[in-house]
Amino acid sequence: MAGAWLPVTDIPAEGREFSFADQSLWTGPAHEHGLSLEVAEPLSATLVVIPQKRGAYIKGRLAGVVGMPCDRCAAAARVTLDHEFEYVDELPAPGEAAEDTWLRETKAGLELDAAGLLWEQLMLALPTHVLCKPDCKGLCAVCGADLNVAPCACAPAGGDPRMAALRGLKIEKK
Ligand SMILES: [Zn+2]
Ligand SMILES: [Zn+2]
Repeated sequence: MAGAWLPVTDIPAEGREFSFADQSLWTGPAHEHGLSLEVAEPLSATLVVIPQKRGAYIKGRLAGVVGMPCDRCAAAARVTLDHEFEYVDELPAPGEAAEDTWLRETKAGLELDAAGLLWEQLMLALPTHVLCKPDCKGLCAVCGADLNVAPCACAPAGGDPRMAALRGLKIEKK
């Protein structure tokens, strides 16, 4: 999304708070990155930006509920987000790579890419594993049946195909 550059240079020394509730800040890049993510309850974010000599101190919060497919069974899972963050962003020194900053220097002064920053914070806020429920049994690796609905006929309860292979090896050794 374009047009979310905050003019850091114009912010008074005591800082300023910005609020964001435009869902396309998150759904736009999610779509671009092919990430399956729906907004279940609107996301909202606040950013407090305090200008520093070569950057800004940034403190914020991102909250809302998103829908994502369960890692194990692909059913829709609700992920509640309430993520706080705080850090200092600085312009890279001359000659340094500009990879780790959301700042840029223009004729008008220092600007902060709020859209980039808020997308990155969503990525940081998401859990490593999305589960529809903590004890989701997932899909059978052999037949694809949803084991939350009923056990399938591929293996006895608790049977792991990899363990079965090991058991087979032991039998051959005898
Ligand atoms: Zn699941
Ligand atoms: Zn099966």
